[in-house]
Amino acid sequence: MSKRDYYEILGVSKGASADEIKKAYRKVAMQYHPDRNPGDKAAEEKFKEAAEAYEILSDADKKAQYDRYGHAGVSGAGRGGFSGGGMNMEDIFSQFGDIFGDDIFGNFFGGGQRSRGGQRTRGVRGSNLRVKLKLTYEEIAKGVTKNIKVKKYVGCTTCGGSGAKDKGSMQTCGTCGGSGQVRRVQNTFLGQMQTVTTCPTCNGEGTTVTAKCTSCKGDGRVYGEETVSIDIPAGVQEGMQMNISGRGNAGERGGMPGDLIVLIEEEAHKELHREGLNVAYELHLSFTDAVFGTQVEVPTIDGRAKIKIPAGTQSGKIFRLKGKGFPAVNAYEKGDQLIQVSVWTPQHLSADEKALLEKLSNSPNFKPHPDKNDKGFFDKIKEMFS
Ligand SMILES: [Zn+2]
Ligand SMILES: [Zn+2]
Repeated sequence: MSKRDYYEILGVSKGASADEIKKAYRKVAMQYHPDRNPGDKAAEEKFKEAAEAYEILSDADKKAQYDRYGHAGVSGAGRGGFSGGGMNMEDIFSQFGDIFGDDIFGNFFGGGQRSRGGQRTRGVRGSNLRVKLKLTYEEIAKGVTKNIKVKKYVGCTTCGGSGAKDKGSMQTCGTCGGSGQVRRVQNTFLGQMQTVTTCPTCNGEGTTVTAKCTSCKGDGRVYGEETVSIDIPAGVQEGMQMNISGRGNAGERGGMPGDLIVLIEEEAHKELHREGLNVAYELHLSFTDAVFGTQVEVPTIDGRAKIKIPAGTQSGKIFRLKGKGFPAVNAYEKGDQLIQVSVWTPQHLSADEKALLEKLSNSPNFKPHPDKNDKGFFDKIKEMFS
């Protein structure tokens, strides 16, 4: 299923400002909000789609990636990895606080808390982790699944991430009674105001640990290693970034894990050179092969290909293998392979060879007489990079 354009989803132009994007999202989110469309699956999908679009377009980095590479540049956005599982409702509602402000949200949707899950937060969110991933041209051409070992914080298996020694060493917080929040009444010039804040004793977790887990010393996580499987779509490019939700560092005491950010690097190829979607190759031909014509095998990003060199091929001639370049990561487009002929001039000659060539040097056929229809040097350069 192809994804809709994020700008289109929010109904804004590419040049829209951050403020315009926010306003547009607010409008769409209210239109399709589940509270207003109970049981309407199509509305829910639209609601999720808009949230995902906003998540990308409201983040300068992700927006830049999206503008450059389309959906592939930011795939893994939302929850669910590269296949684009979309965001879950809880993520979306947690995003709302920033956009609507808690008060506005509450007023619009009658309380708002309903869908936002409990106010109790578990632990501390883990940090994002960045890894570099080097890929060969061949891997990029077809797409590849890479299993990479990532050194990072992982959840402690002894205590299940709670940080407590055992069940008995976890107690309901005495300060907040387990709600994770404390209410405070303040006297202000407007009268009495009640404020709700995170419980300082338990940091909003609702529980306190009386004896710490010995494996993780109460952190709920330990430094270790995890093998992460990453599906790389065909056609990615150096500098592209992929965000894999929830595969970064584990959070402290059961907190949400951070994201794993994979930075794509290209491994230089021995013979081929990438120019966007196209692939360039320099073919060295002997003088006699160029004169008589020949068949040669050239490397491509997808095995070897045979090409026919016609008799009388000039140095600098470019052959184009249509569709033998890289696929676009976000479209059906495919690049070409460009093969530039470079005729090899002998640098060392035996006496016999020298004598043979000297005989030919005054022959009129050996004097250059370029055909007017032959493309000039600058046309070729243009063609090379078109
Ligand atoms: Zn532990
Ligand atoms: Zn508490």
